[in-house]
Amino acid sequence: MESVASNSKPHVVMTPFPVQGDLNSSLKLAKLLHSRGFFVTFVNTDFNHTRLLNSRGPHALHGLSDFRFESIPDGLPPSDINATQDIASLCEATRNNCLLPFKKLLERLNQNASKSNGVVPPVTCLISGALMTFTIEAAQQFGLPIALYWPPSTVSFLGIFHYRTLLHKAVIPLKDQSCLTNGYLETELDWLPGMKGIRIKDLPSFVRTTDPNDFMLNFLMTEIEASQSCPIIFNTFYELDSDVLNTLSPHFPSLYTIGPLPLLLNHIPHSHLDSIASNLWKEDTECLHWLQSKPPKSVVYVNFGSITVMSPQQLHEFAWGLANSKKPFLWIIRPDLVNGGSVILSPEFLNETKDRGFITSWCDQEKVLNHPSIGGFLTHCGWNSMTESLCAGVPMACWPFFADQQTNCRYACTEWGIGIEIENDVKREEVEKLVIELMEGEKGKKMRQSALEWKKIAEEDTKPGGSSYMNLDKLIKEVLLKS
Ligand code: UDP
Repeated sequence: MESVASNSKPHVVMTPFPVQGDLNSSLKLAKLLHSRGFFVTFVNTDFNHTRLLNSRGPHALHGLSDFRFESIPDGLPPSDINATQDIASLCEATRNNCLLPFKKLLERLNQNASKSNGVVPPVTCLISGALMTFTIEAAQQFGLPIALYWPPSTVSFLGIFHYRTLLHKAVIPLKDQSCLTNGYLETELDWLPGMKGIRIKDLPSFVRTTDPNDFMLNFLMTEIEASQSCPIIFNTFYELDSDVLNTLSPHFPSLYTIGPLPLLLNHIPHSHLDSIASNLWKEDTECLHWLQSKPPKSVVYVNFGSITVMSPQQLHEFAWGLANSKKPFLWIIRPDLVNGGSVILSPEFLNETKDRGFITSWCDQEKVLNHPSIGGFLTHCGWNSMTESLCAGVPMACWPFFADQQTNCRYACTEWGIGIEIENDVKREEVEKLVIELMEGEKGKKMRQSALEWKKIAEEDTKPGGSSYMNLDKLIKEVLLKS
């Protein structure tokens, strides 16, 4: 393992895009860099900084002498602590408001360094969320090397990279609203490089607009174009995404696949950093005890991540599908999961499932997925959730909501063989059928086998000498330590 002499520590400043999934995987990358001798400053937004303090207590962000937290404003008005993030507002606010506070922070960190008698090294490099390319200007001004980290799936990065071509060929924007229902989204785009058999509906969901000036469509295109001058880091491993990576590589100076991060992290010694975590909601620990009482691979784990919302009717259909499957389930229901209202489950459902269901509002997902009692995962297909499931060898039933999730679902179901899809217009009969298939059907068995095979390849890649392991060393040598 490459490590760096402690008397001349390089100092990396990390600015993740401020949503739960990106925070979690960026924190893993930060811990890996710390283990390789870096002094780390991890920058949250003021809003998330406060949420972390509220959910984890005042000691959560103390860090260590050489692993520190800072925060800058995101420019959004103060919101309710449990509010679901409005991604478009967050993208707009960070793009418009964060550059100046970020430059001031870099100045302050360097001033602190010069006053600290060598305790704090000056900033030597930046790793920024790939949706925060305003940081490139700061890197240039301060003369610092920068790499961009893309925490969603690599295949979604390619999908967004193709948006400009799709606009030129008039595939998008949609001609009118009827395209959402008249079969247009089923159109195959076989000519799209690196995305075999992809349909419009499988592309990152921001193509589902009739407006050529749609904010997210244009925001994403310009962010990807701005990132073309920078090294990009992906949370994947080569074998999983080789076609995608080979298609992207002529267009970017360097791509570093260093995933799956949960497995790479297994190779660093346990340290004080273990106690630093990034969950914005308070975790229930009771559910882990409940899992202890269940037979191996018997429990369906249901979790739709930090952003997904659904209608009361969809919640109701999931509930009765789970109840009718007769399988034990652990269901994580965020307080803001249901659109425009509170979560209400019927007394009949609660009574029917009281002996086999456990419902709570947040958990330590990696611990849950790695528990021997978990047999399948009903997921919204967020990339972190899928990666964590793959690292635990757990097959998935997929109900994608937005962003990269449709693309992830497509690849999980048709390319990687680890998922089955639930229709967007969810019906209890389908949930029941697919949950039974996932847990005990022939297809479920095959999917579990494939998940375990991918896990094995991922373990090889993240071991010393494996491609992801060595790519982290390369990233350090070729980018972060380049003066
Ligand atoms: N997560 C968790 N507990 C929960 C729900 C989610 O720890 O009850 C974590 C999960 O492990 C993952 C992240 O939150 O790291 C969610 O990220 P993902 O990309 O899967 O989905 P998003 O929330 O961005 O839609």
